[in-house]
Amino acid sequence: MRFILALLLLSTLAYALPFSLVKHETSKEIGPTLFVIGGIHGNEPGSYFAASILTQYYTITKGNLWVIPNLNHKSIMMNSRGVNGDMNRKFADIDIDDMDYQIVDELKKIITDPQVDLILNLHDGHGFYRKEYKNTIFNPGAWGQTCVIDQGVLDCDHPYKDLDKIASTISRSLNDGLIQDHHTFYVRNTNTRFDDEAMKHSLTFFAINHNKPAFALETSKNLPTLEEKVFYQLRAIEGYMQYMGITYARPFELTAEKLKEIIKRNGNVTINNNIHLNLENLRAGLSFVPLKSEGNDFNFTHPLGGMMQNKGKYNLYIGNQMVSSLSPSIHLSGECSEEMRIEVDGKEEKLNFAKEYLITTDVMIVNKSLARANIIGFTREGRVDESNMRVTLRDFDTKYAIDKDAKAYRVEFYRDNNFCGMTLIHFK
Ligand SMILES: [Zn+2]
Repeated sequence: MRFILALLLLSTLAYALPFSLVKHETSKEIGPTLFVIGGIHGNEPGSYFAASILTQYYTITKGNLWVIPNLNHKSIMMNSRGVNGDMNRKFADIDIDDMDYQIVDELKKIITDPQVDLILNLHDGHGFYRKEYKNTIFNPGAWGQTCVIDQGVLDCDHPYKDLDKIASTISRSLNDGLIQDHHTFYVRNTNTRFDDEAMKHSLTFFAINHNKPAFALETSKNLPTLEEKVFYQLRAIEGYMQYMGITYARPFELTAEKLKEIIKRNGNVTINNNIHLNLENLRAGLSFVPLKSEGNDFNFTHPLGGMMQNKGKYNLYIGNQMVSSLSPSIHLSGECSEEMRIEVDGKEEKLNFAKEYLITTDVMIVNKSLARANIIGFTREGRVDESNMRVTLRDFDTKYAIDKDAKAYRVEFYRDNNFCGMTLIHFK
C-alpha cells in the first residue's frame, strides 16, 4: 500500500500530470505492458472503481500494469459524463482552449509510449448489447456487456494485432462465470473507419491509428449494483493480463460480495500535513475545521479521493460519492515547535499532529509548552487550555464527535489564535 502511494506520488511529481498514473512494474523481467484507463466518463463508476482497486490491491509478478484510475476526476466527483463535454470525442482533434486539453494531451503521450503494448478504456454503457432488437434495454444499439473494437485486425504487424480474436477470447471467458445468464458479453465491432463518424474521435481509434491495440470495455449501467460492474471489469482486465502473459496476485477472492466490502473502504485524508480524518465512518458534515484561507492541501489515501469547494465548504469525495462536507474556520498557521506528549491509557508517548490515537479508557494531553490544547466536545469550567487532565469518553458531548458512532474527537492545538495542528482521539 505504502509502495503504491509512493509510486503515485512519484509519478504525480515527476510529470505533474492532471490525473494519477500508477505503474506496477516488475523490475527483474521486462514483459508486456497493459495500460488501463478508468474514469473517462464521470458517471460510470464501475470503470473507475475497478481501476482504483487494481492500483490499490493488485501485485504484478511478471510484466507491467499501468493504470489511470481517475482520468476525468472533476466529472467523477460531479457524477457527470463530462463537465466539459464528452472527453471520448476529443482524441482526433482538440482546441488548445478546451478545458480537457491538458488531460487529453498528456494521455496521448502515454498511449503512444513505446512501452505500452495494449490499451483498455473502461466504461459502463447503456443496456445489454444484442444483435437483434428485443426492447430498449436489449438491442443492437446498447453498449453494456461488450468488448468494443474499432476494426477486426490492426493495420500493422503487432503481437496483439488481431483485435477481434482477442476480444472474442475475453468475451468467452467472461461468459463462463456470469452472475446472471442475461449478463452475456459480446464483441461489438464499430467498424469505425467506415461506419462510425463519432467514434473516429475516440480514444481507442486514436490508439489504433498509432499502431496500438486498444479495446473499450463496457459493463452495463443496468446491472443492479456497483460491485457487479466492478466484478465484470476486473474479470475482463484479468482476462487481458492472462492473454498477454502478465501474472498477478490479489489478496481477495474475486466475487461481487467481496468487492462490495472493498468498495466501502474510504481510507483517510491528511490536510495541510497537520489534520488527519478517517473517512470510513465520518459524519456527513463537520464544522469549524481549522483551515487556511487558501492553498489548503488535501492528500487522500484512496485513488479516487478528491476535494471540491462549493459555497464556502470543502466537500470530500471518494469517486462520485460525497463523504463529508467541511465548514472551515479560517486561521493563520501557528508554530508549536516544543514537544508535546500524549498519555494513552496511562502510557506516555510523543504526540504527533495528523495522527489518530486509539484509546481504551482514558487519555491526557501532556503539555508544558505555550500551545493551548482544545479538546472539541469537552469542557471543564474555568479552563482554556485542556492539557494535563485525564479525559474519558463519558466526558464528551457526542454532538461534537467526527464519526457516526460518536467515539472519535478532535484535539486542536493553538498558539495565540494561530492553528498548529490537530490530532484525533478515537475511543475503542
Ligand atoms: Zn463511457
